[in-house]
Amino acid sequence: MKIEEVSARRIWDSRGRPTMEAVVRLQGGIGARGAAPAGASRGSKEAVELRDGGERLGGLGVERAVQAVREVIAPAIIGMDPRSQREIDSLMIEIDGTPNRSRLGGNATTAVSLAVFNAAAAGTGVPAWMKAAEDARQDPELPLPEIQIFGGGAHAQRRIDIQDLMVMAPGAANFEECLELTAEIYQAAGALMRERGRLAGVADEGGWWPDFKSNEEALETLVLAIGKAGVDAVISLDMAASELWSDGRYRLSLDGTELDSGGMLELLSKWIEAYPIVSIEDPFSEHDMEGMRSFTEAHGDRIQIVGDDCLVTNPARIRSAAKANACNAALLKVNQAGTLSETLDAHAAARAAGWRSIVSARSGETEDATISHLATGWGAGQLKVGSFARSERMAKWNECVRIQDEIGARAFAGGKPLSGTWWAESRRA
Ligand code: PGA
Ligand code: ZN
Repeated sequence: MKIEEVSARRIWDSRGRPTMEAVVRLQGGIGARGAAPAGASRGSKEAVELRDGGERLGGLGVERAVQAVREVIAPAIIGMDPRSQREIDSLMIEIDGTPNRSRLGGNATTAVSLAVFNAAAAGTGVPAWMKAAEDARQDPELPLPEIQIFGGGAHAQRRIDIQDLMVMAPGAANFEECLELTAEIYQAAGALMRERGRLAGVADEGGWWPDFKSNEEALETLVLAIGKAGVDAVISLDMAASELWSDGRYRLSLDGTELDSGGMLELLSKWIEAYPIVSIEDPFSEHDMEGMRSFTEAHGDRIQIVGDDCLVTNPARIRSAAKANACNAALLKVNQAGTLSETLDAHAAARAAGWRSIVSARSGETEDATISHLATGWGAGQLKVGSFARSERMAKWNECVRIQDEIGARAFAGGKPLSGTWWAESRRA
């Protein structure tokens, strides 16, 4: 099996901004695509997106990244076997030669890496989730979805400070049931906002626009919505706290408060006591690892503490955060790393540390649903792709529904007895 042609084109993301996709065609005509997503609350050490700069399209053009695929990456990988993902990814990293992909662009390498993976699956005639499982030497398992109900932070013009208010239904028997429970909560939350005259559309990831007077009102409303839907679900937050951090303090604009690291620890501890929260992502800034460490020391045995900005899908950072006990789970975003192989290495590093992994989309997405296959094939356990609205989100959930038909409903990371699990521990409330 050989790569015969590699091309790229500009496409548009879910915020109507330019992004790109790569197309890999094999001898015999089989071809596949991969698209680069884009974040809004980025970690400072992520792979860099190559953008054109200048006036046009707010400087976000991707002409240079598209050219990098056509002129530099294509000639290097044409003739290679698409099943040699690691070799191809390593070659792109070597050609790029920078620590953060700033020459070729993390968007270019991400798109190509995903297209190579999809082409190899298509060429072999196996579903992509099965190929991912072979690559990772894992038993495939549909992930437990983490689904946003209210969006905030950088995804809703900082209308509230919390970025993601999400729900999880670990007790659901299978993936389908999980989606059904979430659909009920999403609709119940929308109805609550309508009744209060506060329904104001949706944020970047499809969660309801957060028209609240305080961060806590958002939490209370989410609890109400879960109750109104009458389903068994728990809460997961992404504080994206690097966005709240400046000059050594956390600014919660909606509440009009400014907290030091200790104050933030106190506030989050209070929320964990008061609400059925089982997971918090980026509770402290990437520049406040001491905050992450104290938080994990205080709550790591009860809740999942997810590193996103501070880990940036980097195996070395995961290993050092594990050593420092700075969190207990890793968010995995392919475009933070820049290639699929590095993302898989990050997953392996998380596993080796005894951590959980969550495969994640970005706030700027496309219809590309490859991550649904990765989450399943790698047996990551959890998948986070935003809310339960907007087709760039639903494309990922719906892909999992199709995978469930192929893999069988029983291969599901949730549906476990609630006792003795990490989410059960924090359900005392
Ligand atoms: P981003 O945020 O894609 O806008 O960077 C997602 C997240 O923080 O998890
Ligand atoms: Zn995050």
